[in-house]
Amino acid sequence: MSSEVLLMMGPPGAGKGTQAARLAEAHDLRALSTGDMLRAHVSQGTDLGREAKAIMEAGDLVPDDLIVAMVRSELDELEEIRVLLDGFPRTPGQAVALDALLAEFGAEMTAAVVLEVPEDELVRRLVGRAEELGRSDDNEATVRHRMSVYHDATKPLLDFYDARGLLRRVDGTGEMSDVTRRIQEALA
Ligand code: ADP
Repeated sequence: MSSEVLLMMGPPGAGKGTQAARLAEAHDLRALSTGDMLRAHVSQGTDLGREAKAIMEAGDLVPDDLIVAMVRSELDELEEIRVLLDGFPRTPGQAVALDALLAEFGAEMTAAVVLEVPEDELVRRLVGRAEELGRSDDNEATVRHRMSVYHDATKPLLDFYDARGLLRRVDGTGEMSDVTRRIQEALA
């Protein structure tokens, strides 16, 4: 099988995790979520977890060099680069680092899917998720802050991938199964 690299992008609460899992399964890709990886470090109390904990609770971004090293070590484990990256890259610096990593591993980006959901709907979903799952960065103030971080640091990446013809914009509202179908259509 040849390499395949899909990105799942979108604001906090857009449903990236759910759709990433489905898409990874459909395309036989390893799903790598930097958020999940960081939460595992925090719960295991590693050095990285200790460094990341307060940053994540504040809704800020963990420094690029730490994130890139974490992703590199995951890619290193793979026999072939067939991955779905969820929540990475999130800054221009991470996007540049990803290009370098892929070049190093002899792989190329396939496409970047961005889930689009209006901001009011996102806040409603995230505050609801806080009540359900108790994720400590899902309170309303932190949610608003994560949204503005997305706006400032991550949104510019959409133009970066669009200019390369890689961006697939997908409506992330409505039933999850409808969103899944729209993603499949956008990638077909
Ligand atoms: P969401 O998309 O809902 O914000 P994630 O699980 O992707 O949730 O991320 C949770 C937190 O983990 C982020 O707010 C940030 O602090 C940290 N994080 C995850 N991925 C990255 C990344 N690529 N760069 C920097 N920080 C990250």
